[in-house]
Amino acid sequence: MSRVVVAVDGPAGSGKSSVSRASARALGFDYQDTGAAYRALAWKALERGIDTEDPDAVTGLLEDFDYSIGIDPEHYFVRVCDTEVTHAIRDPRVSAVVSSIARVPAVRVYLVDLFRRVIASSRKPGIITEGRDITTVVSPDADVRILLTASEEARMARRSAEIPGQTAGTVAEQLASRDAQDSRVVDFMNAADGVTTVDSTHLDFDQTVQAVVALVRSVAD
Ligand code: C5P
Repeated sequence: MSRVVVAVDGPAGSGKSSVSRASARALGFDYQDTGAAYRALAWKALERGIDTEDPDAVTGLLEDFDYSIGIDPEHYFVRVCDTEVTHAIRDPRVSAVVSSIARVPAVRVYLVDLFRRVIASSRKPGIITEGRDITTVVSPDADVRILLTASEEARMARRSAEIPGQTAGTVAEQLASRDAQDSRVVDFMNAADGVTTVDSTHLDFDQTVQAVVALVRSVAD
């Protein structure tokens, strides 16, 4: 196999992070989680106490945004300067403001460039990058482009199992509101031309990973 670039998009709760990571592990590839960068910037905004609804203040955060991510699927981490934020960026406080950060055009331009540099830096036989606009904006020329979907019901159920301590109703509301805000910026609910849809509604985790791995092998072998 030559170096293979795989792009995976999908809504929150579609399982794209865990499926992409497990698929990368099975294929011996790197794995890049792009949502982590938007979340890390949102975390920084909260740390600094800036108004996340103010695009100029948000853009100002990029001046000294010292971000790093582990792309080896066995050693995933997210750091801002020297602070490990791997878990902190999953906090519901961060999820609540991340869409406001992600809709600022300067933020998207900056991070799209960063994601492309990370893809270029990979030394493995391939890299899977997942997010919302990977198949369309970050890597429209990727060798394999996948939209990972699941019914709204399945996504809510999976996400609420991931966040103990919050009622299923609260999780469902937060997820629906984040999807609604995000889909104003990027269309990640419909597959673009040439993008293969993998619907995981009736697949368990291992079956979904197998479907992704098979797709990568069929295109890349
Ligand atoms: O994938 P995850 O849920 O961690 O993404 C967090 C947020 O980052 C999304 O709700 C969206 O606002 C933003 N995002 C984005 N483009 C991407 C990845 C994530 O706008 N490629």
